Amino acid sequence: MRPIIVCGNWKMNGLPNEAGPLAAAIAAATDVPDVVRVLCPPFVSLATVRDALAGTGVAVGAQDAHPESGGAYTGGISAQMLAGLATWCIVGHSERRRDQGETDEVIGRKLVRCLEAGLRPILCVGEQLAERESGQAEATVRAQLEGSLGVLLRNGPIPADLVVAYEPVWAIGTGLTARGADAAAMADTIRATAAALGAPDAGAGLPVLYGGSVTSGSISEFLAEPAIDGALVGGASLKVDEMAGIVARAALTAEARRTAAAKQDLGAAG
Ligand code: PEP
Repeated sequence: MRPIIVCGNWKMNGLPNEAGPLAAAIAAATDVPDVVRVLCPPFVSLATVRDALAGTGVAVGAQDAHPESGGAYTGGISAQMLAGLATWCIVGHSERRRDQGETDEVIGRKLVRCLEAGLRPILCVGEQLAERESGQAEATVRAQLEGSLGVLLRNGPIPADLVVAYEPVWAIGTGLTARGADAAAMADTIRATAAALGAPDAGAGLPVLYGGSVTSGSISEFLAEPAIDGALVGGASLKVDEMAGIVARAALTAEARRTAAAKQDLGAAG
């Protein structure tokens, strides 16, 4: 049974003195069983948020890590530096691909660094609007996975705790969302690609999140799809009520999955 995960990406928003209270308020408003909750504040707020979330069950994630483990990289933050502050790390977000020119090769090296440091990576993939409109969405995402996971494979196997976020670039921060069925079809492509690359369990255990203008109003469309295991939430993750609504809906899916798994176990036993 794959977990249901809701991860908030605060991007470059909020000051360190605002981050702790916001994180604590989100934790209190989303305290439901069986949903894995992660908040990713800016680097400078990681320590504050880690302290504010202690004992709440909400994990802390970083938004990025440097592809090298250390050295003369002014302004860089290595995965090892993050290890005491966070347990998760977003890698390959489309805003970094766009603004920092990150390639799949660089993203693959970031994945390696995260795994070395014990950080659980959320690998972001997704197509541009022109690629979807020209029927190239699946090929684009497949190439992103093959490029970044290919680097990982030079260093070891695909780990069981990898998470992939499917984020169509045209849906990020635009108010547009993919259709649930299209996101589910892409999740199938992602698992099939991971399986072909040797992912454990033939990719069946790989959590795939949807990201792109998710709100408490749109989350149901995605969680209604059995192939989708939660959401990477940007703008709405800065709002306590929105996060409360998203996680409350996620809890329903988590409960339904638990019930279905229990029935399956009973059937197998009987
Ligand atoms: C994101 O930051 O990954 C994201 C999906 O942003 P938004 O929800 O604002 O579109």
